[in-house]
Amino acid sequence: MISQLLLDWYAKNARRLPWRDHSDPYAIWISEIMLQQTRVETVIDYFQRWMQTLPDIATLASASEQDVLKQWEGLGYYARARNIHKTAQILRHDYGARLPSEIKQLEKLPGIGKYSAAAISSMAYGQDAAALDGNIRRILTRLFDISSPLGSNGTEAQLRQLAQENLPAGKAGDYNQALMDLGAMICLPRNPKCDQCPLQPVCQAFMRGVQNLRPVRTKKKIVPHYTVCAAIIERDGKVLVARRKAEGLLGGLWEFPGGKQEEGETLAEALQREIKEELGVEIEIGAFFGKYNHAYTHFKITLHAFRCRILHGEPQPLDADTIDWVNHANLSALPMGKIDRLIALRIQQSKA
Ligand code: SF4
Repeated sequence: MISQLLLDWYAKNARRLPWRDHSDPYAIWISEIMLQQTRVETVIDYFQRWMQTLPDIATLASASEQDVLKQWEGLGYYARARNIHKTAQILRHDYGARLPSEIKQLEKLPGIGKYSAAAISSMAYGQDAAALDGNIRRILTRLFDISSPLGSNGTEAQLRQLAQENLPAGKAGDYNQALMDLGAMICLPRNPKCDQCPLQPVCQAFMRGVQNLRPVRTKKKIVPHYTVCAAIIERDGKVLVARRKAEGLLGGLWEFPGGKQEEGETLAEALQREIKEELGVEIEIGAFFGKYNHAYTHFKITLHAFRCRILHGEPQPLDADTIDWVNHANLSALPMGKIDRLIALRIQQSKA
């Protein structure tokens, strides 16, 4: 009953999305990873550019990590891009540059978790695998009026079972995509549009009038906030940039050197200490260059940038993969995170 109502609705209301024009498992994989934590509207352009530049697994596997990160720049969560690149190399080496169809094999590949494996195997290979992401969890907790909190082991197992039990054999790809579309268009996180919902006749939360109280969430942790500073150091028309170590947050991306303010430090003291630790040089702090805010998944930062001048020493990559002096125009070619890109643009504009 649920799946039939859903599939009938999907047949008339499916969103037209560029990756749905591809039956190629590669395109489905790339779109699924891009869509994690990222809005569909944002992903569309990135996906189209990606498919033009890196149209298949072999091309992706041969590209440099820096080129891959540059393609990804602005999408955030850069570990996704590094994992896609690693996975392409594994696929070329072990699978003849093809994605496997088996969920267990897919789950072993870097960056492909339970959800992505189920989504890829159902959409690309027609396997009867139910995918479970945030949208689908929300719909199921409402449909079955589940009052235990999301995230607990019991709730997760119950949702997984319900998603699988209601899956129509042989139509898992459409079923998963229909749930995704319903979550994006109708069963919204706040104020679901129950009057337009094909599942209203079978929705237990709607019948009890508690749809806005589902899903139940455990209390959110307080997100820490850090104050960070960065140095714009110029010499002979070039600016100093450092490439972050490969692993960890923003790994492999370029940044203006600096770091976190510690308790009791002024911004100037923090920046002088960070530059000494990262590059081994003494600096003089000059004009304030700008203040930038950004929220990551588990913390927020406010970054203060300053123009700086080296007093003693020659910079060394003590706490970076490498460093470079770059012409302003060439800053555009380096993959960077959001804040560093804004600083780079401002540097380029100030010289224009
Ligand atoms: Fe969601 Fe409302 Fe539809 Fe229930 S009836 S699935 S709460 S939109």
